Amino acid sequence: MNVLLFGPPGAGKGTQAEAIVARLDVPHVATGDIFRRHLKEQTELGRLAKGYMDKGELVPDQVVCALVTDRLAQPDASKGVLLDGFPRTVSQGEILLDWFSKHGRAVDLVLSLEVAPELLVARLSGRRTCRSCGRSYHVETSPPRVEGVCDSCGGEVVQRDDDREETVRSRLETYLRETAAVLPFLSERCPVVRLDGSQSIASVGAQVAAAIEQAQSAP
Ligand code: ADP
Ligand code: AMP
Repeated sequence: MNVLLFGPPGAGKGTQAEAIVARLDVPHVATGDIFRRHLKEQTELGRLAKGYMDKGELVPDQVVCALVTDRLAQPDASKGVLLDGFPRTVSQGEILLDWFSKHGRAVDLVLSLEVAPELLVARLSGRRTCRSCGRSYHVETSPPRVEGVCDSCGGEVVQRDDDREETVRSRLETYLRETAAVLPFLSERCPVVRLDGSQSIASVGAQVAAAIEQAQSAP
């Protein structure tokens, strides 16, 4: 299955991704994670992306789309993929759907995580992230067992530079200005299930599991 996880920054996409990829046995392709990996490895792409990420803006469409279509063409993604944080503009959506259709594939399911805007700021400013595996924590609601150490891989858990309050506001504005319109675009072309992302992590997980099960049993 080719599944898209859609929602504003802080909606819980990364949090739900782990269980989804385990269930579907497909790779997790999160464009933000890919940029952070490049940043850590100090590649040219990492330096380019940092300029946009620090301001809460989007990396240009051509750059992101080339990255994603290269990734989709890799053998481990041939049976399906979980895309997280992509597409973020209508133009990215058009390029993605064109690529799938040229390769005899389609988006089987869009999971849209919907969360009240006032919750997003609290989620993002309290978020802590593992530098190595990217797992998300929250200082209040889901801290790691040992402060600063990832439960999954032992990596260092830190605050992302772009989770500071000024950048959070700008990212949410960018979402409203450029990304919100992607949902109606996708709704006209792919099966979309809207989920209440304001509920607990476990309850959102149960909604996600039910939506996937239903999509898998659809004719
Ligand atoms: P996204 O990948 O959509 O930007 P994350 O999955 O990283 O968002 O989640 C953002 C923050 O919100 C993290 O600190 C995470 O622990 C927390 N979080 C995620 N889902 C929930 C939830 N259902 N209830 C409460 N907090 C959540
Ligand atoms: P995320 O980890 O999804 O919150 O993404 C972090 C940052 O990476 C975003 O604020 C953007 O600057 C950049 N980014 C991630 N995905 C995309 C995308 N699909 N298009 C443009 N920029 C992106």
